[in-house]
Amino acid sequence: MYQCLRCGYVFTKEEMEEYFKDFKCPRCGYRILRKVRKEEPKVVKAI
Ligand SMILES: [Zn+2]
Repeated sequence: MYQCLRCGYVFTKEEMEEYFKDFKCPRCGYRILRKVRKEEPKVVKAI
């Protein structure tokens, strides 16, 4: 999973490759992306 740092759109590598054969946001074409994990919120346990 990746997130575009411009529009905030989250997408998979497969989705990205469907639109472009390149490392870009499928929605806006921005090239700066952030790797995110799919629905895995960080849980911090209080001690
Ligand atoms: Zn974007």
